[in-house]
Amino acid sequence: MDRSTVPVTAGWAETFAAAVYGLTVDARPLESREETNFLLVATTGERFVLKLSSSASDAALVQLQNRAMLRLERQLPDVRCPAPVRTADGRHSLSVTVGGQPFTARVLTFVEGVQLRTLGYLSSQLLQQLGAAAGRLVTSLAQGGALGTASTGWDLRRAPAMVERCLNTVADVRRRRMGERIATSAQTTIDRLEPFLRLGTIHGDLTDENVLVARDDASAPVVTGIIDFGDLGTSWRSAELAILIASCLAHAPGIRIPVTLAAAFHREVKLTPDEIDALAPLVGLRLAAVAIETDARATLHPTNHYVTDAVEREWRALAAFSGVADIMRPALRHACGLDPCPRGHGVPRRECAVPMIDGLSRRSPVVDLSARSEPLEAGAWRDPRRLAAVIDRQRVDGIAVGQYGEGRILYGESGGTAEPATVHLGIDLFASPDTSVRSPTAGRVERASSHGLTIVGADIHLRVGGIVPSVRDGACVDSGDVIGTIAVPPREALLPAHAHVQLCVESLPELPGVVPASEAEVWKSVCPDPGPLVGLGPSVQGIPVRSLLARRRRHLARAQEHYYTEPPEIVRGWRQWLYDACGRAYLDMVNNVAVIGHSHPRVTEAATRQLRLLNTNSRFHYESIVRYTERLAGLTPDPLDTVFLVSSGSEANDLALLIARVVTGRTRVIALEGAYHGWTAATAAVSRRSRRRDSAVVTVPPPDTYRGYSGEGAGQRHAKAVRQALTEPPTAEEGVAAFIAEPFNGTAGGLTLPEGYLTEVYGAVREAGGLCIADEIQAGYGRLGRFFWGFEQQQVTPDIVTAAKATGNGHPVAAVITTRAVAEEFADRGAWFSSVGGGPVSCEIGLAVLDVLEQESLQQHAHDVGAYFKRSLEELTERHEICGAVHGLGLYLGLELVKDRDTLSPAPRETAALCERMLDLGVVVQPTGRHDSVLKIKPPLVVTREDVNHVVKALDTALSAGWQ
Ligand code: PMP
Repeated sequence: MDRSTVPVTAGWAETFAAAVYGLTVDARPLESREETNFLLVATTGERFVLKLSSSASDAALVQLQNRAMLRLERQLPDVRCPAPVRTADGRHSLSVTVGGQPFTARVLTFVEGVQLRTLGYLSSQLLQQLGAAAGRLVTSLAQGGALGTASTGWDLRRAPAMVERCLNTVADVRRRRMGERIATSAQTTIDRLEPFLRLGTIHGDLTDENVLVARDDASAPVVTGIIDFGDLGTSWRSAELAILIASCLAHAPGIRIPVTLAAAFHREVKLTPDEIDALAPLVGLRLAAVAIETDARATLHPTNHYVTDAVEREWRALAAFSGVADIMRPALRHACGLDPCPRGHGVPRRECAVPMIDGLSRRSPVVDLSARSEPLEAGAWRDPRRLAAVIDRQRVDGIAVGQYGEGRILYGESGGTAEPATVHLGIDLFASPDTSVRSPTAGRVERASSHGLTIVGADIHLRVGGIVPSVRDGACVDSGDVIGTIAVPPREALLPAHAHVQLCVESLPELPGVVPASEAEVWKSVCPDPGPLVGLGPSVQGIPVRSLLARRRRHLARAQEHYYTEPPEIVRGWRQWLYDACGRAYLDMVNNVAVIGHSHPRVTEAATRQLRLLNTNSRFHYESIVRYTERLAGLTPDPLDTVFLVSSGSEANDLALLIARVVTGRTRVIALEGAYHGWTAATAAVSRRSRRRDSAVVTVPPPDTYRGYSGEGAGQRHAKAVRQALTEPPTAEEGVAAFIAEPFNGTAGGLTLPEGYLTEVYGAVREAGGLCIADEIQAGYGRLGRFFWGFEQQQVTPDIVTAAKATGNGHPVAAVITTRAVAEEFADRGAWFSSVGGGPVSCEIGLAVLDVLEQESLQQHAHDVGAYFKRSLEELTERHEICGAVHGLGLYLGLELVKDRDTLSPAPRETAALCERMLDLGVVVQPTGRHDSVLKIKPPLVVTREDVNHVVKALDTALSAGWQ
């Protein structure tokens, strides 16, 4: 419907507002598709919108809209809608005559916010809010009696007529065909369902232009307003949701947006199964109508940029729908709690008289290509030859079967930052090329091509890929007829020759063989397991269930927290990658423990060899403990040559504190505020957020050169806090046993200590008779690149060094290294024993880690890749205001997020949300620092520059488009 515009000026609007509303305003025209609107800014700063509707027949519509807006003002308190302002004489609208023509004029309150369209990323949280707000809008409009009836031009019930009227003006033939195809197919379904679709008053144009958002105090967008009630009228209630889905679909491909909106809407409105089934066609119809009408309008008004600019966008949105049209209906059914595809259960089961390939039977071996696969060792899934060898080893009579529903690790890295398609929707029959393939069912051949065909049976469509067909399109085949031979796979194929057999209960033009895990449940209902049809048993492979998290919560202490609100189930680690149960790979930016890479074969081999031979305690005499302590002592400067072996960082620090206290005969310890040294009673007392206060601990501010002093002599200046602590009671009276700190402040987010700090501090502490403990658990052991230990950067030698984490690459191996004199003194004052510390398996693993660090030059690699990483992050920082600084050295980096670059106020909620978003983009990263406002980046040292590019790109994507 074309509501023609009114030729009035801003001056007229100002005079009108003063005369009729008593408002002194400044008027500015507002862009609108169909009405004449002015923004009125009153002298008080208050804002309003003046709306002029052109025809006399609009008066009834205006009344209806006013009644609706007033109702919503009462019933929809958390989402603001415009409301009509009363004229000086108490009316909500009035008739005016401009240029001899009658118009209806009214002033509405202004709703603050920005259009949803301006957001680059729509988070699931925001979509849930949006779907719920749309649902509440519909229920609120329905509450409190009928508002009146009206049907506007954009009522979806009239869309077929609009399509018919405008279709011929679409010049681009491909677009015209796409629009016609989608509209016609939608109409067929809607015609069938129409008698069952409930009517009601709806907004009718709930689009990303008419939904407004504002930012909360963590800059997360929240839905705050709904505007433009110009299309309010009677229509199908489900059309409200369909229009919203249609509009938001253009924001991102896939079904995440439609299903999230639908689920939230359905919780408020409770759609019937027929209404749910009508949703996908209504979305298609709306998009087709909008694209076709906008195209036609652009032809008529080639100078109206508001319209011409919209043309490309609307066709793009329709194309996006076309890509997901097939799966949209089952996906929306699933989102609303219905069986996505009830027909999927009726697939025939038969014992094949003749197997699809000779020798195939229920006993044919199944190859596991999932992320849990044991035969796929040490990255074999990334190499076609090794993959083929694994499959070959398992064949019986030349045959092996690849499973249906499997989340395949071999596709897990293919998504870039998008979720990769990993879940297999068919069965693979591995057999040598030229093997004859028979049809398992009777039917007609369709879509035969050089790489496969489809057999259409009574209720099923069977796609057989990877074969050279010997039958033509249209041919009728019987069960057992030969339909082709297994093809030689293309050069770029990951898997060896096989027929891919996939069942589908719908006739879909495009049938993906693998789909992203988030869509798998829906797709599996449309493409059920072909196993029973081809004479194999049903597949047993499942995708992970959420209940695992509930089970974890039931018996595991809550204090033993997990990352992420919805954590993926991690089943494998390999080098710098972690793989979830669906096969998706994530780049691991947090596992500093797996310093030489996850599942390093040298470690596996050392551990298994030694486990088979001997594992016992260190009171026995064996060679590996000798070799390992020699190696460790060789890594520290003189006089640090004596080693204690324990199992964890907490134990190492606990022991270091115990040694210092025993040797000095004192208890007082000085530590840095915000530090973390472990969870044992003694280490927790020197750690942040400690659950245990200890009067023997004195904390001093950390030498923070980011938020604190960083100029000339910063080291000495920050060290004053320790000097002061030493001279003030209680330390001054009782003396100090130890000063404990990370010589490179990893826990603070990777902050390098200022030059001279530890020289000054260690000097003062030793002068006072205390020992200096360097906690190298996070940052030491080669990660810093230029330095093996953090204390080297400070040019000091501690009295006690603690090492853990990297030492065992994930296996419990930790060490305390001190001087012979200190160790002797400690030994003289009592017994000490660790049952598993320094056991033969731990020592072999510790040695293997050191070998690999050396052989693979990982410290040098950390230096090179770390420098590149830091530079890349610094460049990123220039582009994004929220990035305050990049801290760190080598491969211990920290990207600090701040709300304001001047005040450096921390942004912990933004940081947490960014970590969640980065997981979606395939990167595991977590917050750290005193304010939880630093993204800690401390990956296995085997990361490459390519990985760095991947991480930086993911960060850039999130920071540019928004992430919450
Ligand atoms: N010190 C530092 C600096 C650490 O980062 C940690 C672990 N986060 C520990 C000590 C404690 O190590 P563990 O968890 O192995 O007990």
